[in-house]
Amino acid sequence: MKIIMLGAPGAGKGTQAKKIAEKYQIPHISTGDIFRANIKNGTELGKKAKTYMDQGLLVPDELVVDLVVDRVGQEDCTKGYVLDGFPRTIPQAEALDKALAELGQKMDFAVDVEVPDENIINRMSGRRACVGCGATYHLVYAPTKMENVCDNCGGELVLRDDDKPETVKKRLDVYHEQTQPLIEYYTNSGILKTVDGTADIGDVFAEIVGILGA
Ligand code: ADP
Ligand code: AMP
Repeated sequence: MKIIMLGAPGAGKGTQAKKIAEKYQIPHISTGDIFRANIKNGTELGKKAKTYMDQGLLVPDELVVDLVVDRVGQEDCTKGYVLDGFPRTIPQAEALDKALAELGQKMDFAVDVEVPDENIINRMSGRRACVGCGATYHLVYAPTKMENVCDNCGGELVLRDDDKPETVKKRLDVYHEQTQPLIEYYTNSGILKTVDGTADIGDVFAEIVGILGA
């Protein structure tokens, strides 16, 4: 099963993608996580990506597309995968469709997690990410067992630089301008499914499982 998660920054794509990956035993591919790992490791790609990410802008398509096309061609993706944070522009979606078509494949579902802009700033200001393993929590909605300590690896939790309110506003503008047109793109290709992302994490997941099948 090949799934794309769509939605504004902070809508809950990563939260739901992890649950989908676990339930259906498929890889979770997050381009944001890939860039953050590159930044942490000081790679050339990480250095280039950081200049855009810090400003709330998208990384240029040419730095993202090949990376994802390579990743979905790997052995562990033969049963499917869940893409989180990609595609984010129409050219990325077209490049993905083209690469899959060459392999005789296509995406099965694009799940749009809908959350109004008013809720997003609140979501993002409470999001905490682990500096060690990248796991994501929320101070109120998905707290850790011990304050400021990652449940997974014991690492320290921080507010991501790009989750500060000024940057979140820019990311929302960029989302509406460059990513939202994908809703129409996947409606036209017949694979768009919309879920209410304002519900509790478990209820959103139940709605997604209802769509994907048990
Ligand atoms: P995205 O991957 O779309 O940027 P995340 O999955 O990281 O978003 O979620 C953003 C923040 O909101 C995180 O702190 C997460 O714990 C929290 N969150 C996710 N889904 C919900 C939900 N349904 N209700 C409340 N908080 C949520
Ligand atoms: P995310 O963790 O998905 O919120 O992504 C964090 C940041 O990484 C985004 O604000 C972008 O700067 C960059 N990014 C992640 N995925 C993409 C993509 N598909 N295209 C362009 N930029 C991306």
